[in-house]
Amino acid sequence: MGIDPLSVKPFEICSIRPPTENYSLTFRLTGNCYWNKCWFCPVYKLGARFSKRGIEEVKEDIRRAKLIDDLLSEQGISNSPYSYAGHSRITELAYRIKQAKHEAGHREEYHDEKAPEDLDPGLAWFLPWFKDKPTLEDSLNHVMSWRMGGGKTCFMGDSDSLILKPDFITETIDQIKINFPSIQRFTVYGRTRSAARIRKLDELKAYRKAGLDRVHLGLESGSDAVLKFVNKGVTRDEHIEGGLKTREAGLSCSVYVMPGLGGVRWSEEHAHDTADVLTRISPDYIRLRTLQVFPQTPLDEAMRNGEFIEASEEQIVREVRIMVEEIDADTEIISDSASNLLNINGRLPDDRAAMLGNIDQYLTLSKREKLLFSLESRLRSFAGQYGKLTRDISNALGPFIKNGGLDYSAISDTKIGDIIRLIHSKLMP
Ligand code: SF4
Repeated sequence: MGIDPLSVKPFEICSIRPPTENYSLTFRLTGNCYWNKCWFCPVYKLGARFSKRGIEEVKEDIRRAKLIDDLLSEQGISNSPYSYAGHSRITELAYRIKQAKHEAGHREEYHDEKAPEDLDPGLAWFLPWFKDKPTLEDSLNHVMSWRMGGGKTCFMGDSDSLILKPDFITETIDQIKINFPSIQRFTVYGRTRSAARIRKLDELKAYRKAGLDRVHLGLESGSDAVLKFVNKGVTRDEHIEGGLKTREAGLSCSVYVMPGLGGVRWSEEHAHDTADVLTRISPDYIRLRTLQVFPQTPLDEAMRNGEFIEASEEQIVREVRIMVEEIDADTEIISDSASNLLNINGRLPDDRAAMLGNIDQYLTLSKREKLLFSLESRLRSFAGQYGKLTRDISNALGPFIKNGGLDYSAISDTKIGDIIRLIHSKLMP
């Protein structure tokens, strides 16, 4: 190994990032979420606390990532196709580095984190994805994935990089460009409230000038009643102001919307008001991410004490229908989350009829057909995410397997509903 193994160290990466950034190189400019109060959000309820990171810490992470990239290149790993064999080589490389450090009496900087003792098993299932402090092997795999994904994109987290002054972003992007000249797109997560209330238009323009391309904004709902109930900490007017300012600054605007967030009580209001806010912002992308109520979140508590009643799958599909029908903007709807029952994708206004047709096809199914559709769709998503079924899901399906396939006629509606809920509770949104 030409590169001194003792100098190879892990760096902080963003476990939570948009699906489009799965193969991006990521750097943490802040740690976790300083708001951390949205009732539905499980992400930072796993013991992680908000922290601001200094520019020198971020630069040190960029330096570490660059050294890892050089090491992978030296070992010929980043040139091989993305494969299981590539990951095995990373494991072996990480072992060799750790061995060299051990022999030299060095301590590994980050270790696998322990789950909080009182963590619900349902939430613990997601813990491996929410790493606050990645190990050396995580960092090696991260850089390898980025290289094998083309090496062109970078995401800078965590949950709201718009709280950072433009100088900080500029200096960070400059450093990344110097070390990783192949990167062509820089993106961040941001809160609309930060875009509306913290940053001036000139500051958002300064982000753009620095090389920032896109902001992913968590809108969730356009209804003030819903936003207030789930403690989103923002109003619909601030959503509109933040979204419009982001666009005016020349930044690509990608917004997340959460069908189901209004529950039964605000289902229709949520859909109509969200469509209205989206029309006013006219974002470049609208990403659908259906509500999943995670254990130990305030929304879960509200559900248990009867304050919140979940909308049915059909009702949620009707919400999406209202949005598709009413959004009057030139925008693209993307369904890139396993939490969604239907894959609704297309450009508005051109693909409106096709998307509505897709939705109506589901809505005309009988109650039983809807349940079976949902079971098959959730099973497909699960297999896509994890490759195989877990023991509890296999056990639940076991009694209904006949001649190698599922005997649907033997499963009652109630049982199907239970199995769907079980699968859903394990899907990564
Ligand atoms: S702002 Fe985003 S990350 Fe923070 S609590 Fe709300 S949903 Fe979660």
